[in-house]
Amino acid sequence: MKNIDEIYINGKFVKPNGIEVQELINPATKEVIGRVTLGDENDTKAAIAAAKEAFKTFKNTTIEERSQMLQRLHDVMMDKFDLLNQVAVDEYGAPAAATAGRTQYAAKNFIHNLDVMKEFQFEKQIGKAKVVLEPLGVIGLITPWNANYTHISTKLAPAIAAGCTVVIKPSEISALQTQIIAECFHEAGIPAGVINIVNGRGDVVGAEMTRNPDVAMISFTGSTQVGRIIARDGAATMKRMVLELGGKSPNVILDDADFNKAIPLSVMTAFSNSGQACHVGSRLIVPEHRLEEVKQLVIKTVEGIKVGNPREEGTYIGPMVNQKQYETVQRYIRLGTQEGAELIVGGEGHPKGLDNGYYVKPTVFANVTMDMTIAKEEIFGPVLSILTYKTEEEAIEIANDTIYGLSAYVSSSNLESANRVASQIVSGRVLINGLYDEPKAPFGGFKQSGIGREFGTFGLAAYVETKTILGHDILPQ
Ligand code: NAD
Repeated sequence: MKNIDEIYINGKFVKPNGIEVQELINPATKEVIGRVTLGDENDTKAAIAAAKEAFKTFKNTTIEERSQMLQRLHDVMMDKFDLLNQVAVDEYGAPAAATAGRTQYAAKNFIHNLDVMKEFQFEKQIGKAKVVLEPLGVIGLITPWNANYTHISTKLAPAIAAGCTVVIKPSEISALQTQIIAECFHEAGIPAGVINIVNGRGDVVGAEMTRNPDVAMISFTGSTQVGRIIARDGAATMKRMVLELGGKSPNVILDDADFNKAIPLSVMTAFSNSGQACHVGSRLIVPEHRLEEVKQLVIKTVEGIKVGNPREEGTYIGPMVNQKQYETVQRYIRLGTQEGAELIVGGEGHPKGLDNGYYVKPTVFANVTMDMTIAKEEIFGPVLSILTYKTEEEAIEIANDTIYGLSAYVSSSNLESANRVASQIVSGRVLINGLYDEPKAPFGGFKQSGIGREFGTFGLAAYVETKTILGHDILPQ
């Protein structure tokens, strides 16, 4: 049992002014594993003031100095590698097999940004003008609970690379992970006030960050619903925004795909991180005349998936993060049946023998149509909908019939067909024949999946403001 009763402001761990205490629960066992004291508006204001003060000098640091900081941030995170993995499993039930990759990825973000920063043109000459890309100022980083420290490093690394200072508000249900990375950042010896962390509720700490005039930008990852609130609250002070929001990603299987490979892979992708990931391909769009074959392959794949203790080797699906998310998934499964979809595997309730944690049955519906709730809304759990098409045009129409546009998948044995379909899907990312990662390529959403991009030069560009200096008498001609 861990008690977290400090926040990190101006290079020190301090007691918050806030007094609300929240329990941290292991979703695999429903045991209380910690308690966190939440910060309030005054704590947030103190963190913002520290970041504002630190910015005065941090903005003038050299690329070399910031490179060293990014390297150190990477190194300290790698030092705590095992601990971070372990806590992610305990805190949100992430299957252990997947956390190691995510931790590595989180630490690597600092190295990628180190490279990107060196390539980035912070200054350019355009005609007679000198164009300078200056650090924006104090950035508010607001992150979700799923892969908490990965999202933090995705935002923190470009902020440091650009020369910005930050206040981080992690998800209030990820306080154990937050505590470890706060210790990492402290050990990295980053100047006081450059990184500040306030545990707290979204509508308290997050809202203060979004409204405070001394915060220049919010970089947010979370639901579209909260993204709308942040966009609205931040508009009053004209904040810059990077919003990484929800998804309902289509997965189009073309008739010429290798179904024996594509269908099992689609199921595994849809259920990655127990279905609790923004990019999952939760709408499987298949040729109508192959539906029976698809159903058989899906059922066989689901029956082979190990659901259970996230610590155990081979577990692919762990529990839902908390009771609320468990109930949300149950409600969607109920709705699927009520609205007329065909339940082909899974269903309501706990999997057999797993009623001690927030476990749900991996569930797949066939004969889903786009007017059904399960086809429209992000469920954030292992629930897959199968929809059918007669022509390629219809497949594209179904794929694009959503308010979201974060990720999309296309399977085909013909690269030309796959590219043709990919080019017509309205989405920030399209993956062909699998799930790949390119750490410096931009990631972000079309439509209501977000605004802006993260990673690589596209990501770093969000943390700078463009200034044009003209003065013919003093600048080189
Ligand atoms: P959430 O939107 O409920 O919360 C995210 C963060 O916002 C939390 O820290 C929360 O405390 C804070 N928040 C809540 N209300 C706020 C307010 N009024 N003002 C400011 N901050 C506020 O999301 P969640 O349940 O933690 O995470 C799941 C969601 O995140 C899913 O919708 C998922 O798709 C999305 N997500 C998106 C990406 C992406 O890259 N696009 C990645 C991971 C998760």
